[in-house]
Amino acid sequence: MEYLPPPSKSSAGTYWSTKTDDELLSTQLTTDDPESLEDLSEDQPPIEEALVEMAYNVSGRERGMVRCVFCKHPNHFNGVVMRYKSGTRRLVGRDCAGKHYGVTFDLLARDFDAARDRRDYVEQQRLVMARDRDILGMMAAMRADPSVAEFGEVRRRLREFVGEKLWPKLVRIADGDGRLVVERRVVNYAAMETGRGRQSVFALVGDSYLRGAELVRSGPTVAERLRDIEERLTGVVATLRRDGVSTGTLRQNIVMLADLLREVERERVRMRAVNTFFDGSNGGGLGKFASWLADNGKQGVSVLSLPYRLYDQGRSNGHLELCPSPHYRIPGADLIEVMRDTTVRPSKRRKATR
Ligand SMILES: [Zn+2]
Repeated sequence: MEYLPPPSKSSAGTYWSTKTDDELLSTQLTTDDPESLEDLSEDQPPIEEALVEMAYNVSGRERGMVRCVFCKHPNHFNGVVMRYKSGTRRLVGRDCAGKHYGVTFDLLARDFDAARDRRDYVEQQRLVMARDRDILGMMAAMRADPSVAEFGEVRRRLREFVGEKLWPKLVRIADGDGRLVVERRVVNYAAMETGRGRQSVFALVGDSYLRGAELVRSGPTVAERLRDIEERLTGVVATLRRDGVSTGTLRQNIVMLADLLREVERERVRMRAVNTFFDGSNGGGLGKFASWLADNGKQGVSVLSLPYRLYDQGRSNGHLELCPSPHYRIPGADLIEVMRDTTVRPSKRRKATR
């Protein structure tokens, strides 16, 4: 049975916890090439104080697994580098180290894992701090983009175009499954032959999907949602900018940042609904919408092109046309990029670049 000296209460598992963030950032805590480390030995580990210095992960490499100092053959993809007081190193599988060193190893591993976790989060925190002006500036620019207001304006004008009578029905469709069902009264031949039942019945004659339903859906406008996102984003950035933030708070705020990123993306998807709605060429969504209007009692609506637009000639005060402006765009691509940059976990980023 291998042996590590029992931890003195003040030393074991406290090596990494005394390091500052800057020290953690300048220390290598992971390796994918553990055999290249200096002072590496395959001899039986000495009986002296030790620490978990690094974690190794070699999964997927051609050379295969790492030789374990206890198992004495290559049988680990993941493990740790132990460094002993006299300066030598040993490569050990995690489970093996736990088996041989027991509670002492648990303390050492916990100390190390906490440091590695913190290092990852601090790295992200620094990234955010380095770019916080960009993030908040781009957020403000996105919110101020005229297209954000235009989304609400197009929706308002569509409501006017459709009319107050039909609008609630359209919103229900958009909030629901998006099916534009058209039913017409048709002759019931069976009833005519037998003389029983109704002479005419309603039957499904058209069934298509409302394209760009997000434009019609109820709920806050894009501008309102972006205002709310900006408020929370400002809070997250302010927290990350503070000194001495605990690892838990760092993690929580970086998770929030990733959530906010998804919310910004969702608003960009919503904004794309304007393009989808008014795209008449692909699948003829606009044409189907116009015929749905006609089937619901709104006559005189046609679809014109260049650009695709709804045209209502049946107005008492002349005609009404509806389409987005040629300047309509989806803002915030730069914001998404910088936010994505700062929310990818460093460990994943390192793996991705290899
Ligand atoms: Zn082993």
